[in-house]
Amino acid sequence: MPLQDRRRATPRTDRVLADPALREAAARLGDRLVKESVTRAQERCRAGDLAPEEVVGAALADLPATAGSLRRVLNATGVVVHTNLGRAPLSAAAVAAVEVAAGATDVELDLATGRRGRRGRSALAALADAVPEAGGVHVVNNGAAALALVTVALAVGRTVVVARGEMVEIGDGFRIPELLESVGARLREVGTTNRVRLADYAAAVDEETAFVLKVHPSNFRVEGFTASVPVRELATLPVPVVADTGSGLLAPHPRLPGEPSAARALQEGAAVVTASGDKLLGGPQCGLVLGQAELVRRLARHPFARAVRVDKLTLAALEATLRGPTPPVARALVADQDELLDRAHRLVAELAGTIDAEALRSTAAVGGGGAPGVALPSAAVALPAALAEPLRTGSPPVMGHVTGGRLLLDLIAVPPQEDSVLLTAVRRAVGV
Ligand SMILES: *Cc1c(COP(=O)(O)O)cnc(C)c1O
Repeated sequence: MPLQDRRRATPRTDRVLADPALREAAARLGDRLVKESVTRAQERCRAGDLAPEEVVGAALADLPATAGSLRRVLNATGVVVHTNLGRAPLSAAAVAAVEVAAGATDVELDLATGRRGRRGRSALAALADAVPEAGGVHVVNNGAAALALVTVALAVGRTVVVARGEMVEIGDGFRIPELLESVGARLREVGTTNRVRLADYAAAVDEETAFVLKVHPSNFRVEGFTASVPVRELATLPVPVVADTGSGLLAPHPRLPGEPSAARALQEGAAVVTASGDKLLGGPQCGLVLGQAELVRRLARHPFARAVRVDKLTLAALEATLRGPTPPVARALVADQDELLDRAHRLVAELAGTIDAEALRSTAAVGGGGAPGVALPSAAVALPAALAEPLRTGSPPVMGHVTGGRLLLDLIAVPPQEDSVLLTAVRRAVGV
């Protein structure tokens, strides 16, 4: 058909938008996103790629799943807490709690009396129950905010004593020492990159000292001629010890023996512990503050606390993470390698004859969330490396990891109920 006729035959925008299915989509997604899909379908019709009667169907097929553009991604990278994939995936229980809390909710109201209630009291109670060693608990927006709040409340214009080997960069240029200085604390560095002793701290502590900071190097390991001072010894100094444990393990974990936990740090005498909620705890992005009751109360009442206040969706997800079934991160940490390998074999059997696939044992990592150097026994499906891009740009996107010329789809962070989704995605990428 000549260009001019195709133009004339292309259905008009108002006619297409009047289609009942597209009107229903507009109610769900908003007029603008639906109109964009319609415009794209009309362009294809004008170009001769679509018949006029196919425009509505093409627009419907092109609609986004939600009004937000973030996509669900299958994490087959073999990194359990993947920073670029949003760290911890929430449990189904946490997602359900978020959905309920999204509307008007009693986050700050006591329904029994009709009076104002303590904001997030049930999430805070769940956290307090999970760490009985803590006299008080508080929750802010993220781990950095937790440390900033402690520093603003205790150390503005004063000094924080910290070991040189613990002046760490977490990622994306975020450096703990710069955070402390940015809110007005002075740093007093002690020791060398690889070694520090209690005597170094003791010599640095004076009347200007607000606290001693113990930072967990959560993304690297120093090996060889090294020494650091545990919280237990730092607690003998005449100033409070603040422990930034980072990963958010609440109690010691058998598979992660080197990873500090809030319970252990408090038992050893830390006055306050700070941590992230979306690393090893497996919850929403938030910052946990646990410690001596009076100190935590002071922090929670500090004017700066409002600036890092956590929202109701986070409180809902955190409570469900703590009270509900084991979240995905915690499940992945204890995954059984033989079970993962069985899943890999089943997937390979399903793919037999369509693509060169092999089930194999693999080694997964905890990731940006902590436990550097810990190897988690896992299993993967190995595919030709050329599939990496079609899988990443497919629907749903699948992120694997290319090594030794092959694409490994590691199963440790893929929930078993998603195996069929993974299989469909691979078949689509292969084109069968
Ligand atoms: C991750 C981490 C932080 C920062 O926490 P965010 O939740 O990312 O703000 C601070 N300290 C340590 C030791 C960490 O591992």
